[in-house]
Amino acid sequence: MGQQEKKMSDLDFTEEEIERYARHITLPQVGGIGQRKLMNAKVLIIGAGGLGSPLLLYLAAAGVGTIGIIDDDKVELSNLQRQIIHSNANINAYKTDSAKEAILAINPNINVVTYKEKFSINNAENLVKDYEIIADGSDNFGTRFLANDVCFFAKKTLVSAAILRFEGQISTYSPHKDANCCYRCLWPEPPPKGLIASCGEAGVFGALAGSIGSIQSIEILKEILGIGKSLNNYLIIFDTLSAEMRKVKINKDDNCKLCGSKPKITKINNHKDYS
Ligand SMILES: [Zn+2]
Repeated sequence: MGQQEKKMSDLDFTEEEIERYARHITLPQVGGIGQRKLMNAKVLIIGAGGLGSPLLLYLAAAGVGTIGIIDDDKVELSNLQRQIIHSNANINAYKTDSAKEAILAINPNINVVTYKEKFSINNAENLVKDYEIIADGSDNFGTRFLANDVCFFAKKTLVSAAILRFEGQISTYSPHKDANCCYRCLWPEPPPKGLIASCGEAGVFGALAGSIGSIQSIEILKEILGIGKSLNNYLIIFDTLSAEMRKVKINKDDNCKLCGSKPKITKINNHKDYS
C-alpha cells in the first residue's frame, strides 16, 4: 500500500483524480501511468453528432485531457433520436456548445476546445497539428477523404467510423507507421454523388450510433495507451439486423493515390474528393 501510494504521488494525481479514475488505475494495462497518458492526450473530434456523442462522453469520462470539437451545426429536434449528448433544452444551440456543456458536467477537469466551423481545406491542416489523434464522426464523404488525406500528411492517427441505416463500420488508419493502409487503400475515391444516400435521406437506427461511437472511443483510448491490438489494417463491420460483427482484413494498396509508392495526391488542395 505504501509503495502504491508513493507511485501514485509520483504521478501527481489529486485525491479526486485517484477516486475518479480508480477503475482504470486498477487495471494493470492502464494503471497510474496509463491514466496519466490519457490525461496528457489531445484528441480532435470531427462532428458532435451521432458518433461524436458517445465518443465525447466516454473520452471525457476517461479523462482525456484535451478534447477538440469541430462542428458548425445547431441542435435540431430530429438529432435527438441518436445524438445523446444533446438535450431538448439545447435545441437551436450550437452542437459544440451543447456538447462542451455536457462533457464538462461529467468531468470538469478536462480542457475542451470548440470550433464552430466546418472541417474544410481552409482549416483542416491547421486544426490537426495541435492533436495526436483525430476521430472522424462526420456524415459525409468529403470530410472523410479530407480527414484521411490531412492526417496522412500530418502523420496523425485517424480513427474513422460511419453509420447508415442498420450498419456501421470502423477502422484505424496510421499509414505513417509500419506500412499501415490508409482510408483510400480501401476506398480510393468517394462514390458518385447520389449513389449512396445520406442518413437524412435513408435513415439510421439510433442506437447503432451509440455502439459504433463507443467502439471508436475504445480504439482511441487503446491507441493513446498503446495496449491491445490496434485496428490498423482491419475494418469492423457491425450489422445490427443479423446481430453480426465481422472484422475484415484490409491490405495496403501499393497503387493507392495517397500512400502508394507513386502517389498522385501530394498535398491538400481543392481536390474534388473533398466537396
Ligand atoms: Zn492508402
